[in-house]
Amino acid sequence: MKKDFIFNEINKIKGVGPQLSKYLKKRKIEKIKDIILNLPYSETDRSKIYKLNELEVGKIQSIKVKVKKLNFPRIRNLPNKIICEDETGKIDIVYFNSREGYLRKLFPINSWIIISGKVNYFNKKYQITNPDYVTKLENQDYVVKSIPKYNLTKGINEKKYRSISEQIIKNIPIIDDWLNKNFIDENNLMGWNESITKLHNSKDSQDNNSSSFRRIVFDELCANFLILSENRKRIRKKKIPKKLDKKYSDTIIKKLPFELTNSQKVVLDEINKDLMSENRMFRIIQGDVGSGKTIVSLLAIVNVLKSGYQCALMGPTEILAKQHFELSKKVLRSKDIKIEFLTGKTDYKDRKKILTNIANGKTNLLIGTHALFQKKINFKKLGLVVIDEQHKFGVKQRSELAKKGGNECDVLLMSATPIPRTMMMSLYGDMDISKISEKPLKRKKIITLSKPEKKINELWPFIKKQIEIGNQVFWVCPLIEKSAFLDYSSAKKKFEIIENKFKNKVGLIHGNLEKNEKHKILKNFLEKKISILVSTTVIEVGIDFPNANLIIIENANKFGLAQLHQLRGRVGRGEKQGTCILLFKDGLSKNAVKRIKILKDSDDGFFIAEEDLKLRGFGDLIGYQQSGIKNFRFADPVNHEDLFKLAENYVKNISNEVNEKKYSFLLKLFDKAEIININEI
Ligand code: ADP
Ligand code: MG
Repeated sequence: MKKDFIFNEINKIKGVGPQLSKYLKKRKIEKIKDIILNLPYSETDRSKIYKLNELEVGKIQSIKVKVKKLNFPRIRNLPNKIICEDETGKIDIVYFNSREGYLRKLFPINSWIIISGKVNYFNKKYQITNPDYVTKLENQDYVVKSIPKYNLTKGINEKKYRSISEQIIKNIPIIDDWLNKNFIDENNLMGWNESITKLHNSKDSQDNNSSSFRRIVFDELCANFLILSENRKRIRKKKIPKKLDKKYSDTIIKKLPFELTNSQKVVLDEINKDLMSENRMFRIIQGDVGSGKTIVSLLAIVNVLKSGYQCALMGPTEILAKQHFELSKKVLRSKDIKIEFLTGKTDYKDRKKILTNIANGKTNLLIGTHALFQKKINFKKLGLVVIDEQHKFGVKQRSELAKKGGNECDVLLMSATPIPRTMMMSLYGDMDISKISEKPLKRKKIITLSKPEKKINELWPFIKKQIEIGNQVFWVCPLIEKSAFLDYSSAKKKFEIIENKFKNKVGLIHGNLEKNEKHKILKNFLEKKISILVSTTVIEVGIDFPNANLIIIENANKFGLAQLHQLRGRVGRGEKQGTCILLFKDGLSKNAVKRIKILKDSDDGFFIAEEDLKLRGFGDLIGYQQSGIKNFRFADPVNHEDLFKLAENYVKNISNEVNEKKYSFLLKLFDKAEIININEI
């Protein structure tokens, strides 16, 4: 069998037609290799043959019985029934909607057969309805054993799936392992072929520290680091060094109403060095909410503008981009800097004018949303792209972005999503990382309180007072897992309750609203037309609502600490003291008390993220899932910390001789190959 066989579409497998392909696709199984990566989560033990007097209702059991009688009632809706027995008793095998001819073949009168399925009890008799397996004695080895259990969807049963997966797993081509035997043994891993077979035919897949599971984790991480390293090589190519004259940015710094923090100065220095170097910059600023990333990026922009290049600054949403636009007009006041604003909503005439000015170089700085990149925009001489709040930018988008910018374009990303140390390299290993670790001293620490929901009535007078003195309030309801609908209605309900108390002062925003509608409500809030904004977690990261200084978070225990910290960062961005009130349903668990304490004590998002990881483990971090950071299928930074380091080092050591052929199997296996094919920079 050829190695590439596993990268074929799943319908190349015998017995997989269009209908089944469709169902498999629902479980993200499109190629043959997806079956390989779809590991069993448990096993069904059918390995013992029970006597009929040993049956237990509700259990899946295997029996060996003799067929006594087939009963096909001629009345609609009555099931077909096959009566079987062994020396200890009788049982009914029941079928709804099965044809007589088929059943007569399956159950030859007076013959002994093997049946396996879930036992139930009806009309004082044991029965098995639609058994999973019915087979002749000579085939019993296929059924009477432990059988791996996979996550399946409607339309595929165990028997069907098994017939496909066994066909595949048995026929996996023997590959040349890219890891050598010593490395495998030293690190408690396993050979590739052996590990896959084992994962599908034992309990290994349920133990994420088994050697076979560790192997698949290592491979996943390795594929990830390989792509990052490849991406970095392609992006950090030679460019013409920029000649910076920092006179103008120094003037701006002197005129700021505050002094830059040390961290800000260091980071700005790092960026300037990159701009002047002969390699393209590919850097990310990691800094907690409120750490002052924007001004740093604007100062870098000024330097690039003054050295004769154009710049682009992209925000994740229209409002945020607009805030950057207003700020940059204020900060970069200069006759010879022309700044324009472009979003998907910019009307045709304006857009045309802007595009012309971008192409002929009259406009120096373009600020906007995704529209900056999706549409055909030709810069005359683009020297720097800055992207704010980029946590939704995966490595693929990053490489596309760098390609679009062109050969002279430096790239700077900014992110406020605190990432635990273990994950930093696996996410951003292709970039240089600058960290703003301190916050402006002036900023007051947000007061964090917790309250049982029962006492919600004590809040109303407090809120009333806040509104009277012109403050604004966020009211956040959680997204309960998988029942977005339920939750969305609870935000709605909360809205009704609050709206009743504070007529015409309340807005509601949630993920199901149209973009325009969302925008309108946020704008109303920003312009203080409403005082309370009830929302799900959609409230935008990064927007400055300088008058919002109270945030109330319901069911706070539903959120990860890191996410609570992000939410809390929505308030207290202006002069006034910010307050965050966490509401809890019942009495607090020990763990919850610990978590609140961490939030009360610290306002360092990175510290909080680390603690969160320790307390809840990776699997539980809802916040990470939502922000797209949980991008591994098998690897878990808590359980596999050693493998993260091992894979990182492994790739570092081989990266000079990355032989794409050797690793192309691995990259394809984890759907990474296309990432490096698309960007021949
Ligand atoms: P973020 O890192 O979350 O994007 P911003 O850049 O929006 O933070 O900055 C938040 C606020 O802090 C802004 O109002 C900004 O003017 C202010 N700020 C930035 N740097 C400093 C500083 N060194 N001292 C005081 N205030 C600062
Ligand atoms: Mg910001």
